[in-house]
Amino acid sequence: KIGENRPVIRQLDDAAINRIAAGEVVERPASAVKELVENAIDAGARRIDISYADGGKTLIRVVDDGCGIAPDDLGLALSRHATSKIDGSDLLDIHTFGFRGEALPSLGAVGRLKITSRVLDHDAAVISVEGGHMTAVKPAALSGGTIVELRDLFYATPARLKFMRTDRAEAQAITDVVKRLAMAEPFVGFTLRDVSGGGEGRVTFRTDAQTGDLFDALHGRLGRILGSEFADNALRIDATREGLHLTGYAALPTYSRGSNVAQYLFVNGRPVKDKLLVGALRGAYFDFLSRDRHPAAALFIECDPHLVDVNVHPAKSEVRFRDPGLARGLIVSALRHALAEAGHRASTTVAG
Ligand code: ADP
Ligand code: MG
Repeated sequence: KIGENRPVIRQLDDAAINRIAAGEVVERPASAVKELVENAIDAGARRIDISYADGGKTLIRVVDDGCGIAPDDLGLALSRHATSKIDGSDLLDIHTFGFRGEALPSLGAVGRLKITSRVLDHDAAVISVEGGHMTAVKPAALSGGTIVELRDLFYATPARLKFMRTDRAEAQAITDVVKRLAMAEPFVGFTLRDVSGGGEGRVTFRTDAQTGDLFDALHGRLGRILGSEFADNALRIDATREGLHLTGYAALPTYSRGSNVAQYLFVNGRPVKDKLLVGALRGAYFDFLSRDRHPAAALFIECDPHLVDVNVHPAKSEVRFRDPGLARGLIVSALRHALAEAGHRASTTVAG
């Protein structure tokens, strides 16, 4: 009887493979927004307009003025593991948000996806994908950049649909994602619109492209997103150690919060949630804050991509430093220095 109920091994088709991958890449509308906005940033966009309806469940639209996709490449952009961002020879040499070539095919597997785009020297073109099946590329009207429209997310995967939260909660998650990315890109303008019910919709967040040097731009952008109180109480951080550059703003201890922590950490422009870095931030304020208070800061670490592995997780909010102690030490010493100096200035002002 051996072999009678032998399982059969089958090769899954692309649609099924993409749907499985989508489970990792697209958890909820906000993760789709993150992938699409990151693509727009990677494309060099200076303006990114994001619209959503019903918490992003029925519609997400991202319009950018970036480099666009050539008509001949539209099909490839929707194909699995096809990317213009790396050639695969060095997975530690990554300068863009994207590199896996997974987002668009995944989104096309779990929603109705339409991409309209125009590159220099070509007419605009449009492609759609539904249920994993692509249409032919057709001519379209667009003066430049790219419009990605994603409708009815998870319509093909009802199990996922059930796990979505209220429109309000999903809209909040979208707003958080957009604000986080906007912090890291002060020279890019962002508009977020709720278009539930059709029409022009309602602008829920807007920040114009900042000008000036990086610190001016960042200060302006952080004030716009975290509030002027944060900006008024923020110390400029600018330090370098062994190839790691730390910049950003950290708030005076008096601005600290009991809850609702405003801690934003970025590595090479990527928003990260990293225990090591959060621990370093806490450590830096150790002598300046009571235990139940949380420091507020927006900090950016820039380094050679070889010094940090961003290839840890598809959602990519984790990173792995080659030398974790170096990153920690840099944050602790730079912030302590800034805090001590501010304290010194304050006390001499009082004394004088
Ligand atoms: P990845 O970002 O990892 O390369 P994606 O599936 O997100 O994978 O996108 C596939 C490809 O489509 C990208 O490498 C890029 O060439 C192109 N692309 C996607 N979105 C845009 C956009 N907004 N503007 C220009 N090109 C884009
Ligand atoms: Mg991408």
